[in-house]
Amino acid sequence: MSQKPVLSIKDLSVSFATEKGLCQAVKKVNFAVYEGKTLALVGESGCGKSVTSLAVMRLLPDLANVSSGSIHFNGQDLLTLNKNSMCSVRGNDIAMIFQEPLTALNPVFTIGEQIAEALLIHKRITKKQAKDRTCELLDRVRIPEARKRFDEYPFQLSGGMKQRALIAMALACEPKILIADEPTTALDVTIQAGILELMKELQKEMNMGIIFITHDLGVVAEIADAVSIMYAGEVIEEGDVYQIFENPRHPYTKGLLESMPTLQTQKGEKLKTIKGSVPNLFNRTEACNFENRCAYAKEVCRKEKPFLEEEASGAKVACHFHRTIS
Ligand code: SF4
Repeated sequence: MSQKPVLSIKDLSVSFATEKGLCQAVKKVNFAVYEGKTLALVGESGCGKSVTSLAVMRLLPDLANVSSGSIHFNGQDLLTLNKNSMCSVRGNDIAMIFQEPLTALNPVFTIGEQIAEALLIHKRITKKQAKDRTCELLDRVRIPEARKRFDEYPFQLSGGMKQRALIAMALACEPKILIADEPTTALDVTIQAGILELMKELQKEMNMGIIFITHDLGVVAEIADAVSIMYAGEVIEEGDVYQIFENPRHPYTKGLLESMPTLQTQKGEKLKTIKGSVPNLFNRTEACNFENRCAYAKEVCRKEKPFLEEEASGAKVACHFHRTIS
């Protein structure tokens, strides 16, 4: 892609100092996000996708340490910004929505107060202007009777409405990047479809880049332009959404796709699973991370870790045998 990325992450590594020792949760992760495009970060729980996004927001817990890498946004490395400069980026230029709207909203403030607060922090406007803008935003995310909802508390809204309110809050300052961490996982499928549709519409209007974190490949097919598959804290395959779905090269990506239900799946039929579990992140070895679960593993996989290699299609894969596995 010749366009310049809005956000680019280079060689990002994050570890956690725990009682059991040092856990390397994210290792040498690279990716870029472009204006108006959605990058899906995909993988099982614990693969490092949420840790990566929290690193972008500089919201990692104290026991985390960013041991290497850079996160470039707007010509500056976010990792080098002081607290005040980062506060003006967070919520204003880069915003985030979370999986569980109930825990992301403060139960003791009204929906309107919480959205207006984001505007009052980042924009030079009066309280009245913030209220008017908040009502416009509630209307825009299709919450009916916006003026009335302004004064309602989170418990008075349904799950789907709460998630719409969170989207309104995240988009209040028209960020250039939106990080959406499993934003539809806790919702019914029909409500999920409405939220995804809304996000696509708003993305088009604001031309923002989205990092969409999910384990759900159905959602990826719906919303992503590009996909990075993460496994054990590393990106093991990346490409555009068509490459990933039509011609996956990594055995793990193939396994994820094979475990999805299809139109041919019969009621009660067991879905395929990827047997085994992720390797111990406390004790990383030189082997391929997927070696203990991979049907194609050979001796070299136990001795040498494969690195991301670019294919003719432009996709990148970290597997010694990506050219021969079909
Ligand atoms: Fe499987 Fe070896 Fe490829 Fe790893 S490098 S995914 S173990 S074939």
